[in-house]
Amino acid sequence: DGQIVKWDPDQIRKIQEHPCYSEKASHTFGRAHLPVAPKCNIQCNYCVRKFDCVNESRPGVTSEVLNPQQALEKVREIINQYHFIKVIGIAGPGDPLDNEETFETFRLIHEAYPHLILCVSTNGLLLPDKIDLLEKYGVTNITVTMNAIDPDIAAKIYQYIDYKGRRYYSSHEMGEILVSRQLEGIKMAVAKKMLIKVNTVYIPGINDHHIPDIAKKISEMGVFIHNIIPLIAQAKFAHIAPPTIEEKLAMQEKCKPYVRQMSHCQRCRSDAIGCLGKDINSFMGKR
Ligand code: SF4
Ligand code: SF4
Repeated sequence: DGQIVKWDPDQIRKIQEHPCYSEKASHTFGRAHLPVAPKCNIQCNYCVRKFDCVNESRPGVTSEVLNPQQALEKVREIINQYHFIKVIGIAGPGDPLDNEETFETFRLIHEAYPHLILCVSTNGLLLPDKIDLLEKYGVTNITVTMNAIDPDIAAKIYQYIDYKGRRYYSSHEMGEILVSRQLEGIKMAVAKKMLIKVNTVYIPGINDHHIPDIAKKISEMGVFIHNIIPLIAQAKFAHIAPPTIEEKLAMQEKCKPYVRQMSHCQRCRSDAIGCLGKDINSFMGKR
């Protein structure tokens, strides 16, 4: 990948050994998601809470939540058995940054296995507040789900956010807080040389015309890769027809001039273990 040259050697390792940042790596290296984070501080209109966070996963299944100690033991088991697992991520089932257990889990793993690449995915609301902790525990790869950079479009996508002790319902103000926190968090993470992936849920009629604006903005900010995810029509958005594969490809084409597009996302569960699309836990009959 010719675009990789602008990254330093440590960042390049974290790209080349991370199956979501490099399609090539996705055939060789694996990741394990630890489901330690049940709570969420926002309500997306496409989310049914009884499933894993839709930002990263397909609905229909719920991960059993582990505590940090259990998560550490799980990591020990996994890496002793499967040497190709290089990345340990926390992706839910709710928003990882809204759960103290996320940080305790990263602390334990980073102490025990400093060579592992740690990654987290989040709606971004708490990213500026938690960025120093993430850095302290060695988290280097961050996924932020950004469905809008325009607060008024954000207002159509989220029912509410809980921020600093207050609940903000769908409004310009709510959108403004969420978008500004997301952008600020991304800026801080890029300044710390973290590698950022942005997920955008493609919601026809709501944010489709706006997705190239998001791509342009995140490209200017130094985001590494953009992952456009077709809507799963459920909850308040149950009536919206998801984009077709052709529409998704066309959108990726529109955004490609700005930022590298991820084409191999598998929408993994928050407890997925293995190479993308070939999870070990699914082989073990745990689904
Ligand atoms: Fe659901 Fe994830 Fe949105 Fe929270 S951030 S409401 S868990 S989809
Ligand atoms: Fe990677 Fe997509 Fe799976 Fe997240 S959901 S771990 S980005 S393949």
